[in-house]
Amino acid sequence: MIFVLIVSVFIVIHGINRYQRTGSAYQAIYLSNKHIAYLEKYFNFYTKLPQQSKKIFATRVAKFMTSKRFIPRDIEVVTNEMKVLISASAVQLTFGFPKVQLSHFRNILVYPDSYYSLINKTYHNGEVNPRLNAIVLSWKSFVEGYIHEDGRNLGLHEMAHALRLENKIMNEEYNFLDQRFLKDWELRATHTMKEIEEGRETFFREYGAIDREEFFAVAVENFFERSTEFSEKHPLTYNTLRQLLKQDPLLLEKP
Ligand SMILES: [Zn+2]
Repeated sequence: MIFVLIVSVFIVIHGINRYQRTGSAYQAIYLSNKHIAYLEKYFNFYTKLPQQSKKIFATRVAKFMTSKRFIPRDIEVVTNEMKVLISASAVQLTFGFPKVQLSHFRNILVYPDSYYSLINKTYHNGEVNPRLNAIVLSWKSFVEGYIHEDGRNLGLHEMAHALRLENKIMNEEYNFLDQRFLKDWELRATHTMKEIEEGRETFFREYGAIDREEFFAVAVENFFERSTEFSEKHPLTYNTLRQLLKQDPLLLEKP
């Protein structure tokens, strides 16, 4: 009992309530009220969820947060607020997959602003590096992505790249995307990318025509931020993405 009390105090101090049954795979991790307040204040997707889904979302954020190494770059520390919101971005994208945590990507590197990439010799706002097991983000761009719901969202964009890679990496999360829907998606992507290249498509930004990975990332940004327009302008593409990601942001728009 004393041990339990000591553990509880330690856990509350550190912001996350964690309960573990020794010797079994069962583990429940909860987000503290302070951390939940960050979601309530800044994370629209979370605030629109029904009450029961909010609990599931918060638990998944806590699990994601505790399973990653957040590495500050050119800043002193990755704050808890940053950790909660970055984790929430990953959970938003993977909410249809209860067990997927993008487990290959153990490292989350956070820069204050855009940073110089030695690989591409250019400034970046974010990238995903499977070799370093890393998702890299500019905090400034991440925040801007969620302030303006305009179809540009760095967090979702980079998480989308990580999701596609995670699906191909041979680990416990391998092949979680349904092959049928993935095949449908590739057909939709090829069709729409061609339209962008020919200047016949204006809903998706031109950047989406670079390659299939970029098109997927750009489509994900619009799926969550401009769901209504996306579903009206490209109903088949929207529907395929809805099936592929096993969730529908449009349902959250309705009261
Ligand atoms: Zn990209």
